[in-house]
Amino acid sequence: MPSKHALKSNLKLYSLIDTHAHLDELQNLDSILDNARERGIVAIIAVGSDYRSNIKTLEISQKYPSFVFPALGLHPWQLGELNSSQVNSELEFIEQNITQAIAIGEIGLDYDKRVVKRASKEFQKEVLARLLELARKYNKPVSLHTRYAWRDGLQLVQDAGIAKAVFHWFTGFSSVLTDIMNGGYYVSATPAAEYHEEHRRAVKETPMDKLLLETDCPVYYGRGTKYQSAPGDITRSLGAVAQLKRIDEAAVAEHTTRNAIELFSLENVIASPHCHCKPPLSLRTK
Ligand SMILES: [Zn+2]
Repeated sequence: MPSKHALKSNLKLYSLIDTHAHLDELQNLDSILDNARERGIVAIIAVGSDYRSNIKTLEISQKYPSFVFPALGLHPWQLGELNSSQVNSELEFIEQNITQAIAIGEIGLDYDKRVVKRASKEFQKEVLARLLELARKYNKPVSLHTRYAWRDGLQLVQDAGIAKAVFHWFTGFSSVLTDIMNGGYYVSATPAAEYHEEHRRAVKETPMDKLLLETDCPVYYGRGTKYQSAPGDITRSLGAVAQLKRIDEAAVAEHTTRNAIELFSLENVIASPHCHCKPPLSLRTK
């Protein structure tokens, strides 16, 4: 059996972008991000879930400029905790800081009955429509959670006139996927593409020019033994896509990184030899 060292030196490195990570929920970020760089990650889109998470995400992105790019959002899971004036404050914060955000996310709908019990479908849709309106007004791409709400999610995105969107960790119906593709939107693959049937089908059906990679860390993945994910686990998403598409990892990396650069307009902001880095913007809080 080859030694760990030998395996490491044999590891092929590709330029990868984790397009959906909850870095605000991770401990020991310095070493986690070092590991991410070692695995070839050149950029991470760090999504926020609510006011506190958005602030933390902005702070993290300032600590790791040209590598961590913040998205500001309001996750449907948080809505059960919020009354309408708190929702207004959340939206105000996002708008006040929107120039620092590369995208709006994580936002969306979740029709799992435990979520709907706490935040009705109507309430979720109303809040999402307002968030999408912000994205449209400031011309930002959106990172969407649409569990069991794929059709409504797509409908709202289209009604809002959103040009750029990713339906992250998509596990929905093929018919909705077709309409997502026809709308010019993207779908992203998580490490669950190694084993989750519906996600595997969706990844398989998504053309390479509409596919992104992500980890949604620190989500726990795995059948049987579970592990807590970090951005470095993007290599699992990469491997799973290569296997499902029957193409080599280099081609998957090339396509998905190019797609991420296009969707999030990262061309001139990634710290790579071919990019000109911009200085970090100052954090503006309420
Ligand atoms: Zn997420």
